[in-house]
Amino acid sequence: MKTITCNLPDSLYRALLERTRADQSSCDHVVSMALSQCLGKPMHTLFQVSTSAALVEGLYQGAVEVSRLLGHGGFGLGTFIDLDGEVVVLDGVCYRISADGAVTEVEGHQLVPYAVVTRFKTEFTIGCHRLRSFEDLVRVCDELRESNNVFYAFRIDGTFSRVKTRVMRAVIEGTGLKSAASAQAEFLFEKQQGTLVGLWSPGFAGSFSVPGYHFHFLSTDRHRGGHVLECMDFTGTIRGCAMNEMHVSLPETEEFLKADLTRDPSTDLLSAENDHESK
Ligand SMILES: [Zn+2]
Repeated sequence: MKTITCNLPDSLYRALLERTRADQSSCDHVVSMALSQCLGKPMHTLFQVSTSAALVEGLYQGAVEVSRLLGHGGFGLGTFIDLDGEVVVLDGVCYRISADGAVTEVEGHQLVPYAVVTRFKTEFTIGCHRLRSFEDLVRVCDELRESNNVFYAFRIDGTFSRVKTRVMRAVIEGTGLKSAASAQAEFLFEKQQGTLVGLWSPGFAGSFSVPGYHFHFLSTDRHRGGHVLECMDFTGTIRGCAMNEMHVSLPETEEFLKADLTRDPSTDLLSAENDHESK
């Protein structure tokens, strides 16, 4: 990180202050974003709303508007208030996948309790032909990662013979993530063309993130999706980038400020993310 001092016209300075207020961001952040766009140097920053520990403890109230989320990146995933559906952010659009299977675009003023987004830019890419299972796909992603100690985003586009997803149903406030996950809806899609939006987080980030891989699926026609449990016979392209900066926006809700978040969330998180009916 470097510190610079520079002279700005009054009008630009006022506009800068207005933007920091509107986005609830720091001056450092707004200036970095503006320079990044102007100079064509994308910042590989992960922007996260709330923490996985808060989710595990049942804190699902709205924290950040979708429009602010999209200001930090057009690629990512998350969940909605009361866990009512799954978030997929792809190509700058935020989609909601509901427990009845419907996919809709989400308006900017809606709030999300947990999400992670980034500005995806391809740093590495590989073509794949008929990767048999989810495990095989993960193995290829592992080979593409150079480190276990930074975050990665993966964009996987192509065709699948099968994709199995789950979508959370709305729960009453305070229901822990583990019991909430037992009431999920599951979907099996066959012969699908679509995109897996994926993030990989290091093990040490367990209180904040979901350690390891976390994939959400969205079909090319934007009619099907969900949190990925399994997929089969993938043919297409895996692209990815590393991220070594993280910006976490913590909720200011009373529930969050008063919650006891000292418990290690990793066991509950693992079973909520991976368990499903067929296991
Ligand atoms: Zn998920």
